[in-house]
Amino acid sequence: MTTMAMNSQAHVEMMDSCSAHNYHPLPVVIAEADGVWVTDVDGKRYMDFLAAYSAVNFGHSHAGLLEITQQQLKRVTLTSRAFLNDQLSPFCKELADLCGMEMVLAMNTGAEGVETAIKTARRWGYRVKGVPANQAKILVCDQNFHGRTTTIISFSTDECAREDFGPYTPGFEVIPYGDAEALSKAIDDNTVAFLMEPIQGEAGIIVPPDGYLKQVRQICSDRKVLFIADEIQSGLGRTGYTFACDCEGVKPDLYVLGKALGGGIMPISAVASSKDILGVFTPGSHGSTFGGNPLACAIARKVIEMLDQGDIQRHTREMGDYLFKRLRSFDWPNVTMIRGRGLWAGIELDREKAGKAKPFCERLMHEGLLCKDTHEYSIRLAPPLVISKDELDWAIDKLDKVLR
Ligand SMILES: *Cc1c(COP(=O)(O)O)cnc(C)c1O
Repeated sequence: MTTMAMNSQAHVEMMDSCSAHNYHPLPVVIAEADGVWVTDVDGKRYMDFLAAYSAVNFGHSHAGLLEITQQQLKRVTLTSRAFLNDQLSPFCKELADLCGMEMVLAMNTGAEGVETAIKTARRWGYRVKGVPANQAKILVCDQNFHGRTTTIISFSTDECAREDFGPYTPGFEVIPYGDAEALSKAIDDNTVAFLMEPIQGEAGIIVPPDGYLKQVRQICSDRKVLFIADEIQSGLGRTGYTFACDCEGVKPDLYVLGKALGGGIMPISAVASSKDILGVFTPGSHGSTFGGNPLACAIARKVIEMLDQGDIQRHTREMGDYLFKRLRSFDWPNVTMIRGRGLWAGIELDREKAGKAKPFCERLMHEGLLCKDTHEYSIRLAPPLVISKDELDWAIDKLDKVLR
């Protein structure tokens, strides 16, 4: 069967009949990509202003990442964890160093990374903190997004993600985001961890009040509660820093990483922490067939090497400052707020005047700019971090055309 002759419309129709409807994508069918640009099956070019939710931080078809991938493809791609491979141990060491941590546990998807952090915190609670069996409580935030497994959606506050997927996993309590006092009040003797996003991505790029992360760090240390930072989307350069926690000079007890760690090529996620925390795992207590596979590890090592040099973070800070300066210079009647940090912005629309964000994203698509709405009334901007100033200007001009 040939897919060569299928145009966009044919793909949309085939998806409609043959794929579960678990997404509602813009009707653009991408066939090729390079840097910040993608080309659809009809030959039309667009700028990618989503970067696969930050998984493509280094741009599409990054030469260095492609080279490493091709080399590793010819060497070895999968061993399972029944044996060691020569990429996994250096990956663990290099990622631990980048995080300022001691140990790493490699998985594949972000949700698996979060699940790993939850299991770590519970076992640490029972074995180190001394919480009575099956009583561990983990605090999470209102409007959180940590993935799609049954346990994770059990503590989601998004009804759309939960509806008819119960019974739900117990052991979680939701508190307001950005409110240190609420955190302090919610902690009891059985609280083992506070799981949070240093900037809430899916909720609309919500930046917490200044000083919040510092307060969280202090409260968690004082009360012997693990501070788990889900940096799957906010980490690895997006904010102009290696981690969003760096913006406040704060180090959590556990980082959860994913998305950009795989260079936009292979899924790989990881939890990074100290020996006394990740040391709770014993053989057989956790794992994954593909977790820590040599292909993903080789690519991730290149990602870590690039982050270690710091150029991408510097470039992101410069471009981010320029992006926000220009975005805030407009007087768009449809817009009530512009939030974000680095090359990560949420444009909040006026619900009365503008309505929902999706029609704006459709118009931007027709202008050649691919963005994604989030939580109905925000337009999310997250271009590949390698974007040039000229490319950024091109995109901002399109935004101005559609939003004015
Ligand atoms: C994307 C994301 C996840 C889930 O990652 P998957 O790879 O889609 O499972 C978890 N947490 C945050 C903050 C995310 O942005």
